[in-house]
Amino acid sequence: MSFVRSYKRAFDGKRLDPYPVEVLKRVDHPTTKIREEEIQRVDERETGFNRMIRGDFGPVLQRQIGRFKQPLSRAQKEMLVSLADKVDGITASQKAPNTDDPVAMARHIKATAYFLRADIAGICELPPYAVYSHRMPDGDPVELNHRYAIALLIDQDYKTSEASYGNDWISAAMSFLSYSTAGFVACILAEYIRRLGYPARAHHARNYQVLVPPILLWAGLGEMCRIGDIVLNPFLGARFKASVVTTDLPLAVDKPIDFGLQDFCSKCGKCARHCPSKAIPFGKNATVWHNGYQKWANDVDSCTKQRIGNKLGAGCGVCLHVCPWNKPFTPFHRFVMWTMRSIPVARRLAIWGDDLMGYGKPKLDHKWWFDLEEVDGVLRVPSRAGERFVNAPPKE
Ligand code: SF4
Ligand code: SF4
Repeated sequence: MSFVRSYKRAFDGKRLDPYPVEVLKRVDHPTTKIREEEIQRVDERETGFNRMIRGDFGPVLQRQIGRFKQPLSRAQKEMLVSLADKVDGITASQKAPNTDDPVAMARHIKATAYFLRADIAGICELPPYAVYSHRMPDGDPVELNHRYAIALLIDQDYKTSEASYGNDWISAAMSFLSYSTAGFVACILAEYIRRLGYPARAHHARNYQVLVPPILLWAGLGEMCRIGDIVLNPFLGARFKASVVTTDLPLAVDKPIDFGLQDFCSKCGKCARHCPSKAIPFGKNATVWHNGYQKWANDVDSCTKQRIGNKLGAGCGVCLHVCPWNKPFTPFHRFVMWTMRSIPVARRLAIWGDDLMGYGKPKLDHKWWFDLEEVDGVLRVPSRAGERFVNAPPKE
């Protein structure tokens, strides 16, 4: 589809979604190679942060993970914790009228999600291998047999990202803006669906029973990128967090998307150049097979240690911050993103132009937050903030 046609359609006033998802190329399978028969369900206790809570990375980092040293992210986390037990409830005994048409209900549920302030929503059948095998902390087995998954993306805020190094004192608050909002939207949406007479459960960062990336792939919300187990969206980049609602409400499903990201990431590598912990691989073909997925060979342990142990700030999101897909939704950037999606030979030019234009460098005059660190219950001004942006040449 030409840029002019897609641009016109995006502004025809009838579009349901806030972003023009209808211009994306739909495919039958995610662009990541997946051998579904080989995938083992994941034990929630074995994810990076949970191994750190258990003490696998040593006592210093084990203490750090519960600290939440920046007051804004601490406040957001407290709100998210209050949603931990709001994920499920009683289903109404009678189904509401006119709720059995899957196409109409998919449209209605997405419209409801957007009303509740989700940025992008997608629907897929729930892959059984996306359900955790066991829960934190007790190892209780997970039983979840819902048929559908509704995935909800919440933007971490471009303007804040633009003013940040990606690993300074606002970084964790950007994550928790999305985590807490995504949890809020998912809990309300699940409760609404139960009131319509269908079982539904919300999954958010304080109470997931599902692994999010495969759901995002099948719901057409992105492709796996070089950063590793991260799904990148063509309109938000990796600048989002997601929640999920699983349900038996009949819903028409979306198809996976292909916007050329596998080719783009093989040519780019900007995230690898800037990652402070060197957790992201360089090179065109730096992929491995892991639990049935062919994915970029990132170092989860190094990334987890950096995000928790960062001495220059709270958390880390340098990779999503410097990524060429992290752009505002302006007509100019929409055109550039259309060329990135649609014209393979333009991708190297876009990558070169991104560095040339200085994207990823923080606009420090746009900074609005206070650098504050809580130490022994007292807030103080930290001595350093963020990693200096170095526009280094690729090290392939
Ligand atoms: Fe590297 Fe930070 Fe991204 Fe982890 S979050 S991969 S440490 S840049
Ligand atoms: Fe892919 Fe480049 Fe973004 Fe990394 S920075 S995820 S290589 S597009």
